[in-house]
Amino acid sequence: MGTGDAERTVARLRPFASTIFAEMTELAVAHNAVNLGQGFPDTDGPAQMLEVARQAIADGLNQYPPGSGMPVLREAISRDRARRYGREYDPDSQVLVTVGATEAISAALLGLVEAGDEVVLIEPYYDSYAAAVAMAGAQRRTARLVRDGDGFALDHDSLRAAITPRTRMLVLNSPHNPTGAVLSATDIETVAALAIEHDLVVLSDEVYEHLVFDGHQHHSVSMLPGMFERTIVVSSAAKTFSVTGWKTGWALGPADLIAAVRTAKQFMTFVAGGPFQPAVAYALDNEQQWIADSRKQLQANRDLLTAALRGHGLDVHRSDGTYFLCADIVAASADGLEFCRWLPQHIGVAAVPVSVFTDNPGPWKSLVRFAFCKQEHVLTEAVRRLARL
Ligand SMILES: *Cc1c(COP(=O)(O)O)cnc(C)c1O
Repeated sequence: MGTGDAERTVARLRPFASTIFAEMTELAVAHNAVNLGQGFPDTDGPAQMLEVARQAIADGLNQYPPGSGMPVLREAISRDRARRYGREYDPDSQVLVTVGATEAISAALLGLVEAGDEVVLIEPYYDSYAAAVAMAGAQRRTARLVRDGDGFALDHDSLRAAITPRTRMLVLNSPHNPTGAVLSATDIETVAALAIEHDLVVLSDEVYEHLVFDGHQHHSVSMLPGMFERTIVVSSAAKTFSVTGWKTGWALGPADLIAAVRTAKQFMTFVAGGPFQPAVAYALDNEQQWIADSRKQLQANRDLLTAALRGHGLDVHRSDGTYFLCADIVAASADGLEFCRWLPQHIGVAAVPVSVFTDNPGPWKSLVRFAFCKQEHVLTEAVRRLARL
């Protein structure tokens, strides 16, 4: 869109008129580049899960499902969480099916944060958080991750400094997009301690909960003492089962918080895609092995891309989870945004600058995010092209 096109957009949303993904995907298409910019997989999820969705359409499950989601899915989500974390969420009052994790995030902000309240995000942050804070008429303040050895860790002082008497909510994301960091138990404990001290609601975005490598542990902040009652966990079938187009996600939490999320969700979309719900329920109960295989494949992809980028002289940070790794391009150019605008045409690969996920781009300027949720031949081709760097 031209810059003039945003004039009629309300002021609070004007900064969000276009996304970096649209710009980089456009460049990738124009230059026939391998697109490692946007984080969607190029293979399908478990075949039987796809079949259950097809069957659901054939069987006539094509009208509005219940507002909270079909019982079969809410029960499967609850069972899955209990199996893996040992915590029971009541499928009727503590589980809400949403149109992807994205809607769960927006509905949580709209339902739980008053206009003028403050929300703390941790930089670099997933782009929908800032837009959702703006839609709620709230103010965002930011804490940050910092480089820690070859990985990333939470800057505890920055988190303390970001919280004020007006802070209502803190948004946490681990495993973390865009860095691939899996926050340590200590980092998560600090978040919990500050949330309790300042009586904050924590929105814990765990869409990559399954995609953790090398035996690392994903720690859900909701499991710490005193945290169940103040945490909304958000997850989704998108990344777990390679169905980003299904937009089937969920929110888990105590009944009073989920009631607030449901109130907002009810008038955003009312319900989420009916036929996908029994399919995701099936997959949660029956496709854990598929998830394990997918995790193994992603780890191999990460290794392939890491080794290649390092071989080409880039300083690659450790990715312990997600679809992503970050490389420092200090040697090639100081500015990640310029680099990413240059890369598709000259090298034939698209990536995304990490600085666009921040309010304070300074420390992030030289960092570039590559997605490795792609087939091996796609990654191999990207690696071959990157050798020209
Ligand atoms: C992909 C992603 C989402 C969105 O998930 P959907 O289910 O597709 O809406 C939310 N948070 C993070 C960190 C993501 O990477």
